[in-house]
Order: sequence, then structure tokens, then C-alpha cells
Amino acid sequence: MGVSVFLFLCTSNLNIFMIAATDILVTKSGRSKLQDLNLDNLPFGRYFSDHMLEADYENGSWRNIEIKPYQPLLLSPSLAALHYGQAIFEGIKAYKDRQGNAFIFRPQDNFRRFNISAERMQMPTVPEELFMEGMRKLVEIDKNWIPSREDHSLYIRPFMFSSDELIGVRPSDNYKFMIILSPTGPYYAAPMRIYVEERYVRAAPGGVGYAKAAGNYGAAMLATAEAKKKGYDQVLWTDAVEHKYVQEIGTMNVFFIIGNKAITPDLEQETILEGVTRQSVITLLKEMGLSVEERQLSIDEITDAYKSGSLLEVFGTGTAATISLIKELRYKDFVMQFDVEKWKTAPTLKKWLTDIREGRREDKYGWMVKV
Ligand SMILES: *Cc1c(COP(=O)(O)O)cnc(C)c1O
Repeated sequence: MGVSVFLFLCTSNLNIFMIAATDILVTKSGRSKLQDLNLDNLPFGRYFSDHMLEADYENGSWRNIEIKPYQPLLLSPSLAALHYGQAIFEGIKAYKDRQGNAFIFRPQDNFRRFNISAERMQMPTVPEELFMEGMRKLVEIDKNWIPSREDHSLYIRPFMFSSDELIGVRPSDNYKFMIILSPTGPYYAAPMRIYVEERYVRAAPGGVGYAKAAGNYGAAMLATAEAKKKGYDQVLWTDAVEHKYVQEIGTMNVFFIIGNKAITPDLEQETILEGVTRQSVITLLKEMGLSVEERQLSIDEITDAYKSGSLLEVFGTGTAATISLIKELRYKDFVMQFDVEKWKTAPTLKKWLTDIREGRREDKYGWMVKV
């Protein structure tokens, strides 16, 4: 079955409007895999929906835009992405409200960030209509894959990789853009123990820390593995030069509640991934009446606040986990422990965000985009 959708492409920065016809060819799968699956409490990222979106960048434009049954790709061993790592991704979630309507949380922000990552990695940008309308249509087709249980959602994974079949270090001429969907239950649900990293580095000024580039995650795995050997769940990254200023927790942004202030590292150095959850949490914290500071925060300031009793809460934010409570933070031989049962702010934020996403609370910022 083929459905053609005609879309508007607008190159607003050039102030010219172009009409382009983008065809999304839809080929439906036969039997749905949902018949064999219970959507309750699925582990993160292990099961995928019936369909996927695929598009090719060739000769300077995006073509072959297709939604088709989820299936393996046939790739050449000389595929450029496998050798030189031009590969980026995004993570977004779709929810159902009590009436069964499907919504996607702030997809426009992920679209913008995807193209920021693309530019950093010398990859072509993806037109808004391909990213947004492709995602909307894919989620609509696989709407039954959005779990309705509380804290459950459909994780949306857009990604792009270079696809030249040529071994040579240079930006590819060809790329593939894809979107896949994975139903998921709560992630990192238990409070975490965090090790302050002083040897390995996630991001340095001038580097790619602000991009969701695949290589960042492979590069972080050794540090995480070593922290796990020591009995910790994740690392708190510190700056590359002095190992003094905190950056992020694993693949989450980090917030510290000190007295009546919420403090999170600022984006100035381009070493922090600008999380959509981070941005949402900043908005909600302000609405809760806390003052929010985006600035450099040193590990000494954190340990001093702990010693004086003013370090009240530490938590990570990200699409996969929403909000993760930190029950222990270890810096060298100094261990900071928290009684998360007594916390007010992080649990309130988590409930608030989940309630907005699942339609139990007013979406006054217009974060939920109807599918
Ligand atoms: C994706 C990601 C985050 C969180 O971003 P969200 O948009 O909130 O999901 C934070 N840090 C890193 C390194 C990430 O990759």
C-alpha cells in the first residue's frame, strides 16, 4: 500500500519558500508482533515496534523516504560510519493520555538538537518535515505500541549515519536517516550510587560533548565499567582540565539542590549535552519557587555544602530515566549519603513531569504534541 504525502519545505533562513514534494511510501507489516508481547514492564530498548522509517541522502538531497516493516539492514563492510564514526541519534518519548490519545514530548527541541549534532559531525541536516512528519506518521501507524500504564512510554530513536562504501577519512557523500520505536517501562528506577570521575573525560571544550554523537557513548563505557567494579552505578563527569567542575552523570544532566537554590552546570563550555528534560526541569523548578542557577559548580562547593548540611538533593535528568535520585556520591575517599525517602523536590518534579506527559495535569507550556 502506498500513501503519498505532499509536504512543504521552507528554507526560512534564506527567506525563500520552496515547495517540495516529499513522498513517504508506507508499506505495512502483516501480522503485528504485539500479539506476542505484554507491554507491561518491558526492559529498556530491547523490543521494537512493527515499523521503522528509512530515508537516504544521495546527491545532495533526501530521497527514498519510506515507512516499512522493522527489519535488518544490509550494509557493506566498507560502510563509512563503521570506520570513522559519523553517527548521531536522538531520544524522545511518546505517551498516551487517559482517553488513549497519543502525544510526543517536545519533539521540536530534539529536532533542533539533532541538526546541531549533524553540523558538528559534518553531516547533512535533516529537513524539519522529514524529521517531524516522518516521526508523527510512524508513531501514528504504531500507536498501539504506546503502553498506557503509568511510567511507561514509547521511546523514539531517530538516528543518522554515513553510508559511503569507501575507506577514506572524509565526510561521506551518502547518509541514512532512520527512526525506530521501542516500548519501555521505567528505567533506572532505583536510587543510584555515583562515583566522581577524576581520570577519564567525557567532554572537553572544543570537543563533541554537546552533540549526541555515537562515539561519545562508546568512549564513556570504560569509566562506567570501572565505577561498576567499585560498586557504583555511574560516574559524575568532571571537567577535562582540572577535574574540579562537575558536568553530567553518565548520560544525564545533573542538578544539585543547595539550600533553596537549584544549581546545574551551564552550557557555555559546550561540554554539556543540552537536555530537553533539563530545560523542562529548570522551568518547573522556577514554577515551584526555587531559584535556578546555571553556572560552573565545583566538587569542593558540593562537599562543603554536604558538610554544612545544605546539600539537600542530587538528581540526574534525561528522557530515558526522567529523573534519577542519587543516594550516594563518592569523591576520592569522601562518601556523601542521602536519605532519598525524605526528599521533596526531585520526587515532586518527577511526578509533575510524568503527570503532564500522561495527561493527568495541565500542559501549560505546550510541551505535548498530538500525534
Ligand atoms: C541525551 C542526553 C542527555 C539528556 O537529554 P534529554 O534531552 O533530557 O534526554 C544528557 N546528557 C547526555 C550526555 C545525553 O546523551
